[in-house]
Amino acid sequence: MRALTVKPLTPGSAELSEIPEPDPSEGSVLVEAVAVGVDGTDQEIIGGAYGWAPPGKDRLVLGHESLGRVLEAPEGSGLATGDLVVAFVRHPDPVPCENCAVDEWDMCRNAMYTEHGIKERDGFIRERYRLEPERVVKADPALGFLAVLVEPTSVVAKAWDHVERIGSRAEFRPRRALVTGAGPIGLLAAMIGVQKGLEVHVLDRVTEGPKPALVKDLGAAYHADLEETDVMFDAVIECTGVGPLVFHAIEHTAPGGVICLTGIASSDRKVPLDASAINKELVLNNAVLFGSVNAGRRHYEQAAAALAAAERGWLERLVTARVPLDRWLEALERRPDDVKTVIDFGTAS
Ligand code: BGC
Ligand code: ZN
Repeated sequence: MRALTVKPLTPGSAELSEIPEPDPSEGSVLVEAVAVGVDGTDQEIIGGAYGWAPPGKDRLVLGHESLGRVLEAPEGSGLATGDLVVAFVRHPDPVPCENCAVDEWDMCRNAMYTEHGIKERDGFIRERYRLEPERVVKADPALGFLAVLVEPTSVVAKAWDHVERIGSRAEFRPRRALVTGAGPIGLLAAMIGVQKGLEVHVLDRVTEGPKPALVKDLGAAYHADLEETDVMFDAVIECTGVGPLVFHAIEHTAPGGVICLTGIASSDRKVPLDASAINKELVLNNAVLFGSVNAGRRHYEQAAAALAAAERGWLERLVTARVPLDRWLEALERRPDDVKTVIDFGTAS
């Protein structure tokens, strides 16, 4: 069967390879790929900047934003032929650390976790794969192809969940939220913020293309410049990874506010920073700045619920390109008006 593979840390090594059918040792559930979303992490792996092949192999099957259909599942697994499933990206570490021991693999403390399509485990850009039943969540059949958005949504569901948990150190009734970046992660973060009843503002540098309208159609405010507004935010979800923007957001955070960083930008540009001023700003405002990666089971479930509650037409506009597997190269090109690009296996019913 066909798979998109890469030799990690080797730019230009990505290719469509012929690989064996998944080994039964990978899991008792056989899944047929329906769609896989592509993101910045995939671009980094393809570019040779990130990624680890499975032990004993030199190539990694790419892809971690999965949507598949069950072909075979054992009796009593809770899964049946035809079910749409989304796989967890991360597996707990084998030690396990205290968080992995309680299945909170997203909070792994010893960095020995593995991730499909990223770290030491083959990913989902292959025609079929196998998983254990406890490594997947079922997707709402009504969502169909759009359930490919469950994984990126889980990342922001976790960000919101942790903003609220951290906020609960004191009385915390957030009213206004800022989301920086109107890519897929930013838009999905804004969607959840609006669903929570917050007044959501989204900051992105583009003024054209689909993003401003996607933000407005959510009922959120769009800004190309934060100085347009003197609003202070109770919660900030940072989705660009652009350093200076992170610190700019601190200045717009209300006392007791919580800022969650979800992005990583690959830039070598050095920017001078007044670290003491940032320190003062955080201390005098009881502000919290924290990072968030990956997602646990409850976040996938929250993500599935958030997508089910979203307007279908709006979600459809997020998926700006569906590319068949044999044209995978196109899926990895970045065009200015793209929001989410998805590899389409042509198996959606
Ligand atoms: C994935 C996460 C993963 C992270 C770091 C992201 O693109 O969505 O699941 O933990 O990359 O590897
Ligand atoms: Zn761990």
